[in-house]
Amino acid sequence: MNDIGVRDAGVTDVDVVVIGAGQAGLSSAYHLRRRGFEPERDFVVLDHAPRPGGAWQFRWPSLTYGKVHGMHALPGMELTGADPERPSSEVIGAYFDAYERRFDLRVRRPVDVHRVSEGEDGRLLVETSAGNWSTRALINATGTWDRPFWPRYPGQDTFRGRQLHTAIYPGPEAFRGQRVIVVGGGASGTQHLMEIAPYAAETWWVTRRPPVFAEGPFDEDRGRAAVAMVEEHVRQGLPPLSVVSVTGLPVNDAVREARASGVLDRLPMFDRITPSGVEWDDGRHVEADVILWATGFRAAIEHLAPLRLREPGGGIRMDGTRAAADRRVHLVGYGPSASTIGANRAGRAAVRDIVRLLEGVPVAAG
Ligand SMILES: Cc1cc2nc3c(=O)[nH]c(=O)nc-3n(C[C@H](O)[C@H](O)[C@H](O)COP(=O)(O)OP(=O)(O)OC[C@H]3O[C@@H](n4cnc5c(N)ncnc54)[C@H](O)[C@@H]3O)c2cc1C
Repeated sequence: MNDIGVRDAGVTDVDVVVIGAGQAGLSSAYHLRRRGFEPERDFVVLDHAPRPGGAWQFRWPSLTYGKVHGMHALPGMELTGADPERPSSEVIGAYFDAYERRFDLRVRRPVDVHRVSEGEDGRLLVETSAGNWSTRALINATGTWDRPFWPRYPGQDTFRGRQLHTAIYPGPEAFRGQRVIVVGGGASGTQHLMEIAPYAAETWWVTRRPPVFAEGPFDEDRGRAAVAMVEEHVRQGLPPLSVVSVTGLPVNDAVREARASGVLDRLPMFDRITPSGVEWDDGRHVEADVILWATGFRAAIEHLAPLRLREPGGGIRMDGTRAAADRRVHLVGYGPSASTIGANRAGRAAVRDIVRLLEGVPVAAG
């Protein structure tokens, strides 16, 4: 290593690398800043998306800011005066941009992190499309948007219509006059159906399990109970549960209306896909032009594979925000912190823990 912390072969030394500049990564970077870490000297934030906004920049234009209900502001700067009719991708993109400038976070983009592996001297090596970093600690805040989950069903490749996923949902006008099957019992699926139904010739909703509609306000107690369930899951090293599987589908006036009009009448999962639609073993079939998979996302953590953190259960065993098997690695926005408020809290907790690590405080003393 030379004097300015640059190792041979273009490896730069820092104390902390943050991967991802969504809500989770920016919250973490903010707390690093507050604890006296200097951007570029002590930490870097790397993001492979072209613009500020995290996953929000890719969300469909009809997801206006007014339709996003549970968005919490980032720490230290409110989001005020936003037009509820504007797409959330624009509103939140502009807000994140202003936030990065205000706190001088100097996000490097587009930088794709290919892999994180064991480095020299007890450090981690972060290999990217724009050079390599050697770091004492890692905050992985890569979200899920980059890993849409497409289930496989027999006959899927024979379907002559269009298959789409929420990740590339273009908005409802694209389905004008078409027969559309929406698969998936989460919030995205119901939102897609309610938007598409007025344009489509016909819609069907197919889910694996009967959906549970949760009437009543989503208060703090319910939120806490949901987070505790997801937390317990990842503490055991199981893959994180989806939020809706824990909380149920929130009911508002639009959902009530859609249920009353039959738009949210649900069919059980079909058994196979045919060239012209889908079929059930009991002889039912539906002819369709489009299958829209609103089947969710998985944690985008393949680049961590060389660290061998995954348990046989398929998830990473967690202790708070820290990977139980590697004290240097924190996952923020993963499992119980996969919400805007959860990401805020987890960013702070991860930084507190990393400060202890860098100061040499043993885990048990924390
Ligand atoms: C349609 C939809 C609506 C939602 N609405 C709400 C809501 O109203 N309220 C709420 O609390 N939550 C909502 N959520 C959940 C919400 O997305 C999260 O709470 C939060 O925004 C996720 O932030 P994040 O920072 O974890 O991930 P992201 O915003 O996905 O940020 C991750 C970042 O990491 C980058 N990245 C990924 N892999 C790499 C790599 N290998 N190298 C470099 N960079 C990488 C990506 O480019 C991205 O910028 C919604 C989710 C969806 C899908």
